[in-house]
Amino acid sequence: MAARPLIDGFGRRITYVRLSVTDRCDFRCAYCMPLDPDFLPKREVLTLEELETIARAFIARGVTRIRLTGGEPLVRRGVVDLARAIGRHLGHGLEELTLTTNGSQLARLAADLAAAGIRRVNVSLDSLDAERFRRITRRGRLEPVLEGIAAARAAGVAVKINMVALRGLNDDEFLPMVDWCGREGFDLTFIETMPLGHIEEDRTDRYLPLTEVRRRIEARYTLVPTAERTGGPARYVRVAETGQRLGFITPLTHNFCESCNRVRVTATGTLYMCLGQEDRVELRDLLRSGGPVALDAALDRAMALKPKGHDFVIERRGAPPAVSRTMSATGG
Ligand code: SAM
Ligand code: SF4
Repeated sequence: MAARPLIDGFGRRITYVRLSVTDRCDFRCAYCMPLDPDFLPKREVLTLEELETIARAFIARGVTRIRLTGGEPLVRRGVVDLARAIGRHLGHGLEELTLTTNGSQLARLAADLAAAGIRRVNVSLDSLDAERFRRITRRGRLEPVLEGIAAARAAGVAVKINMVALRGLNDDEFLPMVDWCGREGFDLTFIETMPLGHIEEDRTDRYLPLTEVRRRIEARYTLVPTAERTGGPARYVRVAETGQRLGFITPLTHNFCESCNRVRVTATGTLYMCLGQEDRVELRDLLRSGGPVALDAALDRAMALKPKGHDFVIERRGAPPAVSRTMSATGG
């Protein structure tokens, strides 16, 4: 254990950081961001060196898992260099370096990311139908994503698929996705759409509780609950027929915060203590003026700010989002 672990006011130990490397993205998923988002000016974004310094500061305080995310992390130039730099800490405090991606650039980068030490990636895939994939992402093409997934597998990287359940958009694809992931050997996690940031539509219209998703899967498969937890919001089951692992992330229908072990750093160096709350510490200017010592002290201050949990509400039409920033801005 690190000499001075990061422990918050509720006794939760922080061992997991999601590090956003950019707020930009080549897709415009309708539930995530508006079609014409205000992306940050590049000068406000942390340099690759600063991102690595922040990662190092967390590792020194006992963080064992880092996930690169965004926006779309793989559209940031130099992201492989960053993965390589952080990957050098594997086996020296850092136990795992992972990535969440839309997969559009994976075919090109998978082998280099694997060589940098990434052994697992989460790929967001909300539909296996090319037309529909286009409609949901409003820009993306399915084929390169499938090629990227294949490239990751060929590079020895385990793939987990994340699928957001969207009423009227992909709600007839839960079973086909379970089947496909079963055949391909991928774990699959379903996610409820969360009220984060302003988008064009009212999320209430697309919200589908995962109890409904589960009910539909159980019509065909036997789901066996497991005790597996990652300190995160997902609850896992095994499909008895295939042995495949399914996860359910249900921030709306269940509160999962009591075991929360994570914090998020945005691409501008804002450390958010909760995805759904405003509590934060600005690391960038501290780092630029005070270096690693100031950074380390800021982590202690941040621990006192971590809230007990989020207060997501989505059932009420017209309700404002829980926070004004989108998931892509915080780092999903
Ligand atoms: N661009 C990458 C991707 O799509 O995987 C990484 C960032 S994205 C913000 C991370 C995850 O957040 C994706 O699985 C995406 O589907 C999910 N997401 C984005 N906005 C969401 C929302 N409002 N509610 C639930 N999940 C959301
Ligand atoms: Fe981009 Fe990921 Fe948001 Fe889709 S979910 S718009 S891929 S950041």
